[in-house]
Amino acid sequence: MTDYEIAVIPGDGIGPEVVDAALSVLKECEARYGLEINYTFHDFSADLYRRTGRKITAADMDEIGKADAVLFGAMGLPDVRGPEGLELGAQVEMRAHYGLFSSLRPVRLFPGVESPVKAKNVDMLVIRETSEGMFAGLADEHEPSDESASDRMTITRATCEKLFDVAFSQARARRKRGTPGHVTLLHKSNALRSNVLMEKVFDEVAAKNDDIGNAKFYIDAGSMYMVTNPERYDVVVTENIFGDIVSEIAAGLVGGLGVAPSADVSLTHGVFQPSHGSAPDIAGKGIANPTAMILSAAMMLEWLGERREDDRCTKAAQTIQSAVESTLATGPRARDLGGTAGTQEVVDAIVSALPA
Ligand code: NAD
Repeated sequence: MTDYEIAVIPGDGIGPEVVDAALSVLKECEARYGLEINYTFHDFSADLYRRTGRKITAADMDEIGKADAVLFGAMGLPDVRGPEGLELGAQVEMRAHYGLFSSLRPVRLFPGVESPVKAKNVDMLVIRETSEGMFAGLADEHEPSDESASDRMTITRATCEKLFDVAFSQARARRKRGTPGHVTLLHKSNALRSNVLMEKVFDEVAAKNDDIGNAKFYIDAGSMYMVTNPERYDVVVTENIFGDIVSEIAAGLVGGLGVAPSADVSLTHGVFQPSHGSAPDIAGKGIANPTAMILSAAMMLEWLGERREDDRCTKAAQTIQSAVESTLATGPRARDLGGTAGTQEVVDAIVSALPA
């Protein structure tokens, strides 16, 4: 009997390459932990839109959303754009359709990986709000103009309350494995009305979670601290566009996008994808680092394990994380980390590091 239905969207560029890599690791784990996973593949991509004009619809997302989780490679090609001049990206549409309000983006400096900054102990979770903020007006009526264009930043109390609940619970869960139990809000309440509300709700939620420490910085200073003193951060929570940017700064601290996973989740749905995009500059060369995608697949198993109280998933997730960690420590190392290994060599090493 099938335990889990997983919808797979490989997407564009290196998306299909890293998805294949993650599936090889998942399949090894299925056998080891007695899991039956059925994968259904969905061909949505900017490339498909370019060739046929077909893009993901609400009906497609309703169908895909019946799965227990979605595994997503990457989508978008800089030269493929819709009528408003924006790139195609099912990831953005799925966030709106499934109400995925929080993107969990953990970064950890693994032994064997060099950081471009002096910090030695980077271990933080950036939580990017992904349903409103600076992307709130994506579906607004829009008059095309060459003279002026605007976007809208909207923050609601309801989303902030859910988002900060997630941030404080994540800090509490992380504390069990030795992190300090602390949440920092990065915001811009000195200049943006929407952020005044965000800060107010943060203070209210923080007061109800007084076993967890908290701090607030303006996004500008907070971004600088991320580079000068990243060890001060445990869980960082922020608005949509700020989170888009600071999560990539955080990824840069620990070796780059090739090792930065993510999970876009609501209370009911989860889309698991690497933090990186389709990397057209290296697509088809067999050199993409599959680590971020493999760690995203581990986050998927962890999420399924928690939701279904299924120890097999939780153990499989931990096994993948340990195998990735030992491969990063000993090599082979992918090119973005200064090594010479191609995608397949890294996958083979991770698979052989899984316990028998
Ligand atoms: P990108 O993340 O694709 O690439 C940025 C840089 O990081 C490139 O030099 C790339 O080679 C490198 N890189 C990324 N992933 C890597 C990996 N796994 N291994 C080794 N190197 C890796 O960002 P971009 O170039 O700004 O965007 C390319 C396309 O991806 C655009 O169309 C963009 O809209 C799209 N995009 C999609 C997503 C998503 O699907 N969630 C996210 C970001 C960007």
